[in-house]
Amino acid sequence: MFEKAYDALKNCTCQNDPEKDGCYRCLLAYRGRHDQQNTSRHAAIELLKLILDNREHIKRTEKLDAIRINRLLESELEGRFIEALRRTPDGEPPRSVTHHVVNGKEGFYLRSELGNYLIEPQVELGPTQGVMVPSRADFLFYPERPEPGEVPIAIFTDDMSITPIQTQDFAPA
Ligand SMILES: [Zn+2]
Repeated sequence: MFEKAYDALKNCTCQNDPEKDGCYRCLLAYRGRHDQQNTSRHAAIELLKLILDNREHIKRTEKLDAIRINRLLESELEGRFIEALRRTPDGEPPRSVTHHVVNGKEGFYLRSELGNYLIEPQVELGPTQGVMVPSRADFLFYPERPEPGEVPIAIFTDDMSITPIQTQDFAPA
C-alpha cells in the first residue's frame, strides 16, 4: 500500500510544475480545503520513502501503546529530567543528585530534605510489581528508608505521569 502511494505521488504529472507541491490527481483531493496549504507532495514522498527504505526492519506489534516512539527523544527527555531534578529552584530546600549503582545498573541517588531516594533507570513493570498494564518506567524512585506502606514511584518522562507501585516486597537488592 505504501509502495503504491509512493509510486502515485512520485509519478504524478504535477512533478513537472515547479509551482505545485501536489495536485488534485495525487494528494489534494484527500484533504479538506483548509488543510491544503499544509499538504505537501514532497513531504509525503519523503515520509513514505523513509518507511519503504526501512521495510526490512518493520516489526509487528500487538498494540500501538507498545511502540517506543523514539529512543533518541526518550534519552533526551530522561537527561533533561535528571538535570531538572539536579537544579534546585530558588526558595526550595537544597537537594543533590549523584551517580549511584542501583540494582546493578547505573542510576542516581537523590538526597533531599523530603527524603533520600535511589533512582533506577529503565525498569520493566508488570503484574509481578503489581502493575496491571506492562510498561517500562524511565525511572523508579525507591525511598531509601521507606515508611510503612510507602511504595516506589515510577516516572514516565514522555507523559510526565507519576504512578505509585502497589506492592510490599519490591525494593532494590
Ligand atoms: Zn500531483
